[in-house]
Amino acid sequence: MLLRHTPKEIVERSALTINPAKTCQPVGAMYAALGIHKCLPHSHGSQGCCAYHRSALTRHYTEPIMASTSSFTEGASVFGGQSNMLESINNIFALYDPDIIAVNTTCLSEVIGDDLTQIINRAIADNKIPPGKTVMYASTPSFKGSHVTGYGNMLAAMVQSFAQNTGKRNSTLTILPSFIEPSDMTEIKRIAGALGLRYIMYPDTSGVVNAPMDGAFRMYPKGGTPKEKIAASGDSRLAFALGRIGASQAARLLDSKCKVNTRILDLPIGISATDAFVDALRKAAGLTVPESIRIERGQLVDALCDKAQYLYGKKVSLMGDPDTLLGLVQFCADAGMRTLHVVTGTPAGVKWERRVSEIAGSGATVKCGAQADLFYLHQLMRNDKPDLLFGNSYCKYIARDMDIPLIRCAFPIYDRIGHSYVPITGYRGGLHLLIKILDNIMDRQDRDAPEEQFELVM
Ligand code: SF4
Repeated sequence: MLLRHTPKEIVERSALTINPAKTCQPVGAMYAALGIHKCLPHSHGSQGCCAYHRSALTRHYTEPIMASTSSFTEGASVFGGQSNMLESINNIFALYDPDIIAVNTTCLSEVIGDDLTQIINRAIADNKIPPGKTVMYASTPSFKGSHVTGYGNMLAAMVQSFAQNTGKRNSTLTILPSFIEPSDMTEIKRIAGALGLRYIMYPDTSGVVNAPMDGAFRMYPKGGTPKEKIAASGDSRLAFALGRIGASQAARLLDSKCKVNTRILDLPIGISATDAFVDALRKAAGLTVPESIRIERGQLVDALCDKAQYLYGKKVSLMGDPDTLLGLVQFCADAGMRTLHVVTGTPAGVKWERRVSEIAGSGATVKCGAQADLFYLHQLMRNDKPDLLFGNSYCKYIARDMDIPLIRCAFPIYDRIGHSYVPITGYRGGLHLLIKILDNIMDRQDRDAPEEQFELVM
């Protein structure tokens, strides 16, 4: 059995990570960049880095992920990557014709100290950037942070590069989601649309990394937020950041750069967070909640009540991304489940740990950062066995060792499909999440039930 040697005894570590509960910053930066229409992500580093970032996204979304690389070799590593970057800009605009190149740095380019602002200014001075085109960049050294901080850095770079305050404030609301699936981006837009809201949302990876197959190859799929809309967000009356860790940096920048009032909300996962989201939109726009949304809420409440006996008291352990985890822990608390362990490799901070601990209740172990890894989670679980594990595909080894079901709700998921198309946000997403949890609990009950207790109706 894989992982059968993980010891129960937990030793405090400060300089060693074993099976990290995160991926690297550029993966998140690349994902965010794909949420702008006609934007080509560019990895400023070696080919190997870019290959890894692309393959992580390609395998998670089962879609080809377009991205380019500065293709560092030994020379660039010693003398700096400026000439590689300038040549890349030439080639990319000549061959692939994007509107925007979104550059993310890598460990190597950060360590050698490449100054991307200077390099981009040099490209502008040398007329390497065609009229109407943009090269933007985010600093994403992967020896710190995670894919979530990389996503947040690229989202802030979008504000920095495009958002403009023209002095003509309008009634539009801006929505800045944290690192979520394209299905969740669609769901958030659907709720905003059902409320009759005028809004701008970015990034928006729906229709990009889950685009339909229609027989035509498109280097740049139809989805993604146009850069004109990102520019217009500077005139919004109010902006909502959905998720403190992944989106608040961009919201703060929108406030300081364009004087847009901002509010930070939790991702709308589960009833209470979705209530807060819908209520915030309703109040901001002076609208009433339509009947269709009320029905969706009622259906989720009904389903939770109908199957409460299967959920109540069930013990859960969770790993994943901090903004999503907050919502999932709240969802579990609302459903009467008992959270034992929560870990994320993203350095989400003490405030995040405190907040999750408050929601999870006494006795839960909550940890974030480099040592909050899958090895540590496995050790915790061996000391206090849960009934269910929430996590990404890497958790399947732990789930197998512990012989418990795994609910795949974190990045990356390489061994199942559905996450690109089926949301977990909003009331509808809550229902999907509930069905996923109940299917696993009931399948296990059926599997373990003795003949005389094997029931048709559950
Ligand atoms: S961790 Fe650093 S070296 Fe490794 S793939 Fe990511 S950016 Fe490249």
